[in-house]
Amino acid sequence: MSTAGLYIHVPFCEAKCSYCAFYSVADPTYRQAYVDAVLREAALRLEEADTPWHEAVFDTLYIGGGTPSVLSIADCVRLFEGLNRLFRWSASPEITFELNPEHRDRLSDLKRHTPVNRLSMGIQSFRDERLRFMRRRHNGSEARAAIEAAAAAGFDNLSIDLIYGLPDMTDTEWAEQLDTAAAYRPPHLSAYALTVEPGSLLARQVERGDCRVPDQDVLAAQYGRLTDWAERQGYAAYEVSNFARPGHEARHNSRYWDVQTPYLGLGPGAHSFCRLPSAAAIHDATSAVAVRRANRPDVRTYTTTPYGPALFEQERLSETDLYHEYVMTALRTAAGLHKGRLAALPAPLRQACLQHLQPLLQEGLLIETETAYRPTPAARYRADGLALSFF
Ligand code: SF4
Repeated sequence: MSTAGLYIHVPFCEAKCSYCAFYSVADPTYRQAYVDAVLREAALRLEEADTPWHEAVFDTLYIGGGTPSVLSIADCVRLFEGLNRLFRWSASPEITFELNPEHRDRLSDLKRHTPVNRLSMGIQSFRDERLRFMRRRHNGSEARAAIEAAAAAGFDNLSIDLIYGLPDMTDTEWAEQLDTAAAYRPPHLSAYALTVEPGSLLARQVERGDCRVPDQDVLAAQYGRLTDWAERQGYAAYEVSNFARPGHEARHNSRYWDVQTPYLGLGPGAHSFCRLPSAAAIHDATSAVAVRRANRPDVRTYTTTPYGPALFEQERLSETDLYHEYVMTALRTAAGLHKGRLAALPAPLRQACLQHLQPLLQEGLLIETETAYRPTPAARYRADGLALSFF
């Protein structure tokens, strides 16, 4: 019986952050109907004969968005009760909930009334002017108060998000942000470079010349400062943007990076991935062996019509597609490319891969161990570019 992860996309935010291109809506109209719609989708997905969901044991659950913490506690309780009833769960699943600092007053109810055992908090910065620039709904002191409230409510397993590469951000400011975070000793930290996403307010600001984002050299220097800081503080840089104290790596997100373990995504905009049941017998590189489904990002239709083919798009993936995705993600992780995984590839892919690895090994960007080819931190930072040399 396979294990799987479950992701729930909560597509609501109270307003749009300037840099964000994730699917979310500010209109609260559909919030009430949303939980029922997710549970309806869950029941239907469990009836599918050609997917593993009905026989899977789920060992991670991630409630993300959007802003899950806009849901009322009553809706959260209803959601968790429904998921608990519908799915088969492992003995100690990791259950992550994304919470914005301005919703810190919900923490004690969340602890008391739900099984959430890991919090992911979008701090982004401890500076008021930066938070205003990003159009976040909290300020620096609320960010600190939220971290303290999480600890007071009994959430020991906390991850915080920070953003670097903000316009005119100096090394001193970035160091100060990291040191502020370090004072709270969160078990996990995710740090992302500010990205100009097409369609975001930030993209329009940059286009108009209202602000300039730092160039690649500045970003690389700030990333270097981040990895040095992480090492000094005892965090393992286990993925290019993710840092964990021992034993606190995010189990759910890690399954996205192995391009192997199935995950079921529910809600508008959520993605699912699983291997096809017949795939074990296929050994050529071009036949479909896996499926990725993307639910349409449309909360109105999602909550008002029965879940069905009109609400999703599906893509069939070959061994070659999976191999390319694996290279892309594995080069971002400290674990790197597993030799056992490469050995199981169809022969032409395996041979091509070994050829592509050679120059990276010679340049010292990959380190060969008994079990894997591991990228150095510098290589992980350039992973997207390095992966292209494999295609
Ligand atoms: S809270 Fe998160 S999902 Fe919502 S707009 Fe801001 S960054 Fe995007």
